Amino acid sequence: KPIRCIVKLGGSAITCKNELETINEENLKTVSRQLRQTMMVSDSSCGKVLGMDWSKRPGFTETSCVVDDFCDQPALDFSHFMVVHGAGSFGHFQASKSGVHKGGLNRLLVKAGFVATRISVTSLNLEIVRALAREGVPSIGMSPFACGWLTCERNIASADVSMVAKAIDSGFVPVMHGDAVLDAAQACTILSGDVIIRHLAEQFKPEFVVFLTDVLGVYDRPPTEPNAVLLREIEVREDGSWSVVKPTLENMNKQVEITVAAHDTTGGMVTKIS
Ligand code: ADP
Repeated sequence: KPIRCIVKLGGSAITCKNELETINEENLKTVSRQLRQTMMVSDSSCGKVLGMDWSKRPGFTETSCVVDDFCDQPALDFSHFMVVHGAGSFGHFQASKSGVHKGGLNRLLVKAGFVATRISVTSLNLEIVRALAREGVPSIGMSPFACGWLTCERNIASADVSMVAKAIDSGFVPVMHGDAVLDAAQACTILSGDVIIRHLAEQFKPEFVVFLTDVLGVYDRPPTEPNAVLLREIEVREDGSWSVVKPTLENMNKQVEITVAAHDTTGGMVTKIS
């Protein structure tokens, strides 16, 4: 069955970016509910509303409730979706302080940073999986490192998606995340959620990739800068190159060659668009 949609939960939307390892609980709950509704709406075979607050049912631990409630449900089909999330205030600090992205696992600081980064991002992943499961989405956390994904010079070198495909075929919603991984050239690096999405999109060719974030869309420069303009449309040509339609007072639809890239220090927005 074709994959309908990859959803990216932006780090800035689901975490409080300026508070270390803090989840934006309200946003996470809202988005989990909306995702469940979207997944069900897109599937005409769903008859019954899934998702109840398991945590409020007496006499069950959360784990047994998950098992119990899934058993009660008609066979719902979530098989068109996968979720990828960014790290936000999880992982970034540990990774940048120790230089995991620059490699060099023979240095104790880098090795410790690698471990700390993975503890942080997998903790966030677990909380997101838990929030989705509470809403009735049969989500499964899948870490690139544990799936055996490897990079070379920071680009994906081998990233077998067969386990992701198997999880989807079995009716689960895989939830992947930016991770610390092993790198053939520099021993280790950070694989970002957006690069993961690019790979998954190449492999699964979804109908949509949806980026949920804390701003209204792609701007012509970081939205915190004065005079940043929200772009109405990004036109992608056959060869994969793209240009943006920037609204101006004179011409609401004027096509202009502007470079989001020039303003994008992390490369994040360009990777998302790619
Ligand atoms: P990530 O998981 O990579 O952090 P986010 O979706 O959270 O992904 O990233 C969105 C953030 O990117 C926004 O908070 C915004 O401030 C920032 N940003 C930088 N450049 C741009 C741009 N040109 N347009 C929109 N947002 C941008």
